[in-house]
Amino acid sequence: VKNRRDRHYAFYDEIDYDTIVENKKLENGFEKALADKKFEVWYQPKFNSHTGKIVGSEALIRWRADDGSLISPGRFIPLFEKNGNIIRLDEYVFREVCRQQKEWQEEGIQILPESVNISRFSLYYSNVVEKYERIINYYDVDHKYVQIEITESAIIENTVIVELIQKFHDAGFDILLDDFGSGYSSLASLNQMPFDTIKLDKSLVDYVGNENGEKLLKFIVQLVQSLGMKITAEGVEYKEQLDFLENLNCDDIQGFYFSKPLMLADFSAKLTENN
Ligand code: C2E
Ligand code: CA
Ligand code: CA
Ligand code: CA
Repeated sequence: VKNRRDRHYAFYDEIDYDTIVENKKLENGFEKALADKKFEVWYQPKFNSHTGKIVGSEALIRWRADDGSLISPGRFIPLFEKNGNIIRLDEYVFREVCRQQKEWQEEGIQILPESVNISRFSLYYSNVVEKYERIINYYDVDHKYVQIEITESAIIENTVIVELIQKFHDAGFDILLDDFGSGYSSLASLNQMPFDTIKLDKSLVDYVGNENGEKLLKFIVQLVQSLGMKITAEGVEYKEQLDFLENLNCDDIQGFYFSKPLMLADFSAKLTENN
């Protein structure tokens, strides 16, 4: 570094000046994107491991940029978790899912349970259960068709979560524990929290093919099922993984092997086929 100007750049290089500018653009673009319906709900089908039939889906958000390209949630969700907008985004997705389920029903299509992700920030925002209750009741959709995914990392941060799950349950929602095994897990949480379904993180599914890893998977699946909860495996990409999980009697399979997340029109077509 020879002079002030170089030092200036060296400093900004370290924290990646371009990223900061891009992040600011995304943060500032939130309101307009929300108003202009630039946030799209995509649908990743979940399949029964034995029959290969679609049994449900997960709602995954994408941001349609002005040039038509898609921005992935991994890019913008951390920003909105920092500035609080995630609460409105999660609510938007929840509302869109309820609205779409209602629309399909009115078209005479047999709908399936669809899970929505709720960030830990939305979770700890006051009256989240009451708020979501009002929305689903407004659209008059049966609670069994809209499920809540709570990520594992939400748990260690707050013991209030047990009460929240209870409130969601009392309202009639199923609660899925997302990303199980991704690093935060404590087996004790399985026993303390009344989840309906455990979603095995991709990192665990990737153990298939490894001798000790397979023993661990087998143990986890049996443990979860003996506690009376269902299991969905995430990130299933290979036939070998599917076969192994099917053998363990793992209930549902989600992953590229069967289907990537689909845009509304494509998922809609699949749903109609499935009827
Ligand atoms: P997630 O909830 O764990 O969702 C699963 C992610 O894995 C999705 O990425 C999905 O496209 C991807 N995936 C599914 N099957 C496979 C596979 O076989 N192989 C691989 N490599 N990946 C697979 P996506 O859509 O990019 O979402 C990333 C994360 O963003 C989600 O992880 C979730 O944490 C978050 N997210 C997405 N939508 C929302 C939302 O509406 N609200 C909140 N709070 N978070 C969301
Ligand atoms: Ca999820
Ligand atoms: Ca997950
Ligand atoms: Ca994840």
